[in-house]
Amino acid sequence: MATNRRFFVGNLSLKVTKEDLARHFSLDTTPYLRSSSWIELAVERPGASQGFGFINVPEHLAGHLLQLNGTKLYDKIIRVEPAKNSVGGRSGRINIPSMMPSSFAAPIPQLANYGYAGYQNQNYRGRWNNRRRPQFPSSVVKIPEEKMLLLIDVGVNLPNKVFARDIRNVIEQAQTVGIQQMILTGNTLSMSQSAVLQAKAHPGVLYASVGVHPHFTTKEWSEKSAAEIGELAKDSAVVAIGEVGLDFHRNYSDEKAQIEAFTQQVEIACEVQKPLLAHERASHQKFIEVLSQFSGRLPPIVIHCFTGSVSEMSAYVAMGFYIGICGFICKDVPGKALRDALKEGVLPLDRILLESDAPYMIPNAPEKELDEVGKSLLKRCLPGRNEPCTLPIVAHTVAKCLGVDAEEVARVSGENARHVFDMKSPVPPSQPSPPPVAKNTE
Ligand SMILES: [Zn+2]
Repeated sequence: MATNRRFFVGNLSLKVTKEDLARHFSLDTTPYLRSSSWIELAVERPGASQGFGFINVPEHLAGHLLQLNGTKLYDKIIRVEPAKNSVGGRSGRINIPSMMPSSFAAPIPQLANYGYAGYQNQNYRGRWNNRRRPQFPSSVVKIPEEKMLLLIDVGVNLPNKVFARDIRNVIEQAQTVGIQQMILTGNTLSMSQSAVLQAKAHPGVLYASVGVHPHFTTKEWSEKSAAEIGELAKDSAVVAIGEVGLDFHRNYSDEKAQIEAFTQQVEIACEVQKPLLAHERASHQKFIEVLSQFSGRLPPIVIHCFTGSVSEMSAYVAMGFYIGICGFICKDVPGKALRDALKEGVLPLDRILLESDAPYMIPNAPEKELDEVGKSLLKRCLPGRNEPCTLPIVAHTVAKCLGVDAEEVARVSGENARHVFDMKSPVPPSQPSPPPVAKNTE
């Protein structure tokens, strides 16, 4: 069989179907095309696309496909470009149901479950669900160039359903204010798959972290999911294993199940030697105990979204761990201990990573602590939905506590992130990849 090429198709209408794409790209016209091409469409649920997908066609049709870049489908100018991993295969590492051409008329299989894999935090879900559909911000907030910090967000839950409708705009907003690269956290198997898919669609900008979060281990952790996370972990778009860990504060999963899933996922991280993006709440002792079983084999450890005590922080720093700081540090009362720890020098800058943890942990510092840029970024966020674009507020707060310039915090935390996660230097967002030279042999 001829080699296939894989193309990313973006800016699709949310009502687009695989049949529409097959028609638009004329892939349903001949038996040859029907048997040699296939389409993958990211969907929130059957009939509701996520606005992007992939098309696999025989190599000699690459030119034909690229000619349709910039054409209109349902009044949207669609984008067609070679996928990062553009040599197509029948099966990728991630398990994406492909629509084989013979089943063009069959019901559309669901891709990764973007929509309903969010946290089980009832308050959060309730607040979101009870609201009438929010008015998503459509324009992008710009900030003066001299105020821009170039940052890396090492933990953002973009596969969460609250971003399903406007993820493109959220990414664009983040890039516009200087967030150069983001690591998308998987918290369930389907969110991990989504994170990988998103990372592949935005190479060099988005990266994936895969794992099952302690909140979901009772429901999600099994031999099958362990094998799938283990397989995903090897993907080149995956730079970390996480969020994994222990949460004895909320105990949404029973402790035994949490410990078992965590232990097995540490084993995966050791095998693939990718850092652990760890969630630890009220479980410091047990957490250390689990890790100690792997001593000598552990990859770098990042304590994500640190909210613990000063003594726990010193213990982690002494063990060589990195600390992820999110909007928690900006919160007036709960964030005070963390700010004080930084002021006292417990956490050196070369161990700090910055993360938005969006849609959680909004950096809602008291008004008097915010500059005009910070205020405009917070104003951009929907009520209760943090966005990665607020990360500069976290950087400024860290800088204030350490008594250094925010630029210094941006530079060093960025270097830390690239070092820990083995990420390449970011490609400026304004530079699209050069147009591919495709042979059109038709
Ligand atoms: Zn977490």
